[in-house]
Amino acid sequence: MSALRELAPAKINLGLTLGPLREDGRHRLVTVMQPVALCDSLELLPAELGSSGDRTICPGVEGENLVDKAVAGFREASGWRGAAVQIEIEKKIPVAAGMAGGSADAGAALRLLSRVSGIADEELLMAVARELGADVPGQLQPRRYLASGAGEELRALPEAAPFGVLVVPSDHGLSTADVFNEADRLGLARSIAELESRQAELVGALAAGAAFAPRELLINDLEPAAVSLAPELAWTLDEVRSAGAEQALVCGSGPTVIGLFGDLDGARGAALALSGRAPAPFAVEPWYPTVMPDANTEGASA
Ligand code: ATP
Repeated sequence: MSALRELAPAKINLGLTLGPLREDGRHRLVTVMQPVALCDSLELLPAELGSSGDRTICPGVEGENLVDKAVAGFREASGWRGAAVQIEIEKKIPVAAGMAGGSADAGAALRLLSRVSGIADEELLMAVARELGADVPGQLQPRRYLASGAGEELRALPEAAPFGVLVVPSDHGLSTADVFNEADRLGLARSIAELESRQAELVGALAAGAAFAPRELLINDLEPAAVSLAPELAWTLDEVRSAGAEQALVCGSGPTVIGLFGDLDGARGAALALSGRAPAPFAVEPWYPTVMPDANTEGASA
């Protein structure tokens, strides 16, 4: 078996509408998932001689890796008995930042396993992805999606016209579960009727490939919860607006803040203007499924 490689693009949420809790304890939501050209890189190799089983190497991430679960889930669902594999991950996506880094890696790992095993059963891969987490199905074949349900029901949207994204990472993570719990405490969830009308409005606004929806639809309902847990985010949002962003919002459950610009140069200029911050802000473009960025120059630039 020779080494196989896959890129795992980060995602941003272009708005997120929060709905009520479902019976399975997850929240309903509607969000536009947009992959961006900031990619982890995964390599699948035969496991080392004497190794007792599959193994993931992921410097910078402590504890059980979602990729371990992806490999175990794939073997169980498919019955694949191929030789033990080692997956090495080079992280570029900030961890616990609301950019779905773990989910992106799990999606890329499933693509690698599909290639090495010759098992290309899309339904099986999707079922394994769903078991791994609500953000993983959208990372199986990354592209622009309107996600509903708890994030696992995907409707492909036309790819976007190019635009620029300023990404302002934080020096600490926020737990997704904590942010949803805080949203409940603050009573931020909307009704199912509001969720459905927002979904229809977003599909209409993005049907012709607009870069992003109008301001009134580009709202992240989780933002007040993230700001409540990390009040300095309010200041960061102001800084991003002052740097010229057409819209500034918390990305997913945060704490990363994003600013949207008409083009990459605008986002680059803003990254320079905010370069005194640590960790340093950077600029990215959307990631397009037909154009694979080179793994060594995946497009993140200040
Ligand atoms: P979520 O998908 O829950 O919104 P996130 O996008 O904010 O999460 P991730 O970078 O996926 O953030 O990390 C969430 C947690 O998942 C981390 O605390 C980390 O310990 C764990 N994790 C497991 N596997 C990975 C991985 N391959 N990359 C990053 N984090 C991972």
